[in-house]
Amino acid sequence: TQLADPPYLKGLNPPQREAVLTTEGPVLMLAGAGTGKTAALTARLAHLLYTRKAWPSEILAVTFTNRAAREMRERVGRLVGEAVEGMPWLGTFHAIGAKMLRRHAELVGLQSNFTILDTDDQLRLLKQLIVAADLDEKRFPARALAGLIDEWKNKGLTPGDIDAGEAERYANGRGGELYRQYQDRLKAVNACDFGDLLLHMLVILRRHRDVLELYQQRFSYIMVDEYQDTNSVQYLWLRLLAQERKNIACVGDDDQSIYSWRGAQVENILRFEKDFPGAAVIRLEQNYRSTPHILGAAGGVIANNSGRLGKQLWTELDAGEKVRVLGIWDGPEEARRVGDEIEAARRSGTSLDDIAILVRASHQTREFEDRFIATGMPYKIVGGFRFYERAEIRDALAYLRVVNQPADDLAFERIINVPKRGLGDKAVAKIHQLARAEQLPLTTASARILDTDELTGAARKSLGRLIGDIARWRDMATQLPHAELARQLLDESGYTAMYQAEKSAEAAGRLENLTELVRAMEEYDSLGAFLEHVSLVMDNEGGRNDPQITIMTIHAAKGLEFDTVFLAGWEEGLFPSQRAIDEGGTKSLEEERRLAYVAITRARRRAFILHAANRRIYGQWTSSIPSRFVGELPAEHIDSETSMTGGESLWRANWSERADPFADVARGTGRGPGWQRAAGTLNPAKPGGDWQSRTFSREPARVVESRAPSVSLGNK
Ligand code: ATP
Ligand code: MG
Repeated sequence: TQLADPPYLKGLNPPQREAVLTTEGPVLMLAGAGTGKTAALTARLAHLLYTRKAWPSEILAVTFTNRAAREMRERVGRLVGEAVEGMPWLGTFHAIGAKMLRRHAELVGLQSNFTILDTDDQLRLLKQLIVAADLDEKRFPARALAGLIDEWKNKGLTPGDIDAGEAERYANGRGGELYRQYQDRLKAVNACDFGDLLLHMLVILRRHRDVLELYQQRFSYIMVDEYQDTNSVQYLWLRLLAQERKNIACVGDDDQSIYSWRGAQVENILRFEKDFPGAAVIRLEQNYRSTPHILGAAGGVIANNSGRLGKQLWTELDAGEKVRVLGIWDGPEEARRVGDEIEAARRSGTSLDDIAILVRASHQTREFEDRFIATGMPYKIVGGFRFYERAEIRDALAYLRVVNQPADDLAFERIINVPKRGLGDKAVAKIHQLARAEQLPLTTASARILDTDELTGAARKSLGRLIGDIARWRDMATQLPHAELARQLLDESGYTAMYQAEKSAEAAGRLENLTELVRAMEEYDSLGAFLEHVSLVMDNEGGRNDPQITIMTIHAAKGLEFDTVFLAGWEEGLFPSQRAIDEGGTKSLEEERRLAYVAITRARRRAFILHAANRRIYGQWTSSIPSRFVGELPAEHIDSETSMTGGESLWRANWSERADPFADVARGTGRGPGWQRAAGTLNPAKPGGDWQSRTFSREPARVVESRAPSVSLGNK
């Protein structure tokens, strides 16, 4: 007799089942967007738990975002109940790396309560080193060094691995030396950056057999979603961990590889079969997410890329609506138009939670935010550090960091004179001097300097009070709930009072943010856990439960799906980005095209693609032409519409004939070679008559509607 299928197998198609049931040995699932890769991986996780092949703590499951981890946890929870609650190793590479590293920190010279630096701290630290090395920070910017170090870390290279050739890439060969100093400095302040979370762990796994064996034994099963976007260090790390048991299942889609700028290597997919001979390779072709028109539109775009592994996708869903391509006048109109469409969708029953606006660049969100704040449309920005990036939040966090870990010099530097307490540059320099000479953290050096007569008067008194306060707060930390501690700390430090004294609307907003911060802390078990969360958090959903539109970058939308998706700013120079265009060649452009593919395939039922005729860039009005990707959308899958009328088709001039009548007009925009930008600047006060006459009605798509410009440029 045949037993009934367990719940997690219900509805899965044969290849998905195969992926779920092939638990032993390496498995590679390679399939296009929306074919149920993540669904199959989730079912696989449920299967392992349900059949007791592994305890929750014996499964390593890597997702790309914290949000994806949360969703997987929820889904598995629904399938197998409480068993999932004990899954400590389900998360992003960074979250898992951090957790492991805390256990073995001493092997790389850190303490287990190390701080995870954000970009800001990282840059400040690098700047100090650059200045100390007598280099001109203007010529050799800290950002460049940060990028390079990050690249090395993504490749799994420690300072010892940097040869002269690599070192040459910064400040005439001094890159390697600064990298080493940076690592030393991080160690001295008991901190690491994001890249270290994996690199340190890789080093540990390589050097310490016992640790490696511990994890090789522990992880009976390893699973990785979005495998196409793993970088070298992640790949090496996985390979080490999986080498013993070889129960590793990876799922990915080469067409969705969009993180090569962060060192991701789509080649890891190809390497997989070599590293794990005899891997079961499973392909999925049925798409369950999107309508045929949406799939057709996405497929038409991605078909323009070369060197693809190539996949067929089909769906049983009804044809549905065509993708709507909207040509509009400018950014504000884009936001207005999207807002109107969302209102209409909401009236016809679509929940705001099911609607997303996806942008290529994060600065594009502002226009929508302004609009939605004005119209009271609830929205959230996902994928950034927005809340935690605000200055007042960062200061408050610095206080908490110092309390959590007094050796956190960067945090201490941030608060030493905030609010102003008369500790000027001179006093700080003295503390620094002593710290450097004696190799001490700044807090210890401060305490030490109070024993001398280096500091006098007000400075001495303030520093004494601050150091005393920190000691007292640390004491309190052992007795009070951490949110309460934070509340008192912010009061006693004078930090809240500083904004209360300001009495501006802005200060009021900052105070609200601080309150919100304390509220957020209540959700965590300890101060350490909260600070860890802040360092790692990539999603910023704020904890509201009312339906909200989601605004995010395409990069952050990977793996997600929405009923209705608005794709904004499909214009040359914005998407594809000017950088990709300027780089020439096909590599960057093909990555942009994969982004376009990811973007379109997020939609279940409806997709809108917008392109504006004018944008304000660096404060100047510039006319733009539709993205080449708009031109690649197959006519039979789209409905085009423009709010402009008359004149010759700019679009056709650029894409149908490939001859560019405006090539010479583009000078002066400062935005790269001529043909990509169609014209010079426009003054918003004086609408350029010439420009209003150009339309975006396009061949071969059908023009559904044509109306006169609904906005004049003057009414910003
Ligand atoms: P992406 O490449 O975008 O990450 P994916 O391949 O991971 O996509 P999923 O997100 O797992 O795809 O699935 C897409 C949608 O299809 C989801 O809504 C999922 O619930 C649904 N789905 C997956 N498998 C099936 C199935 N066998 N039957 C019905 N619906 C399914
Ligand atoms: Mg997925």
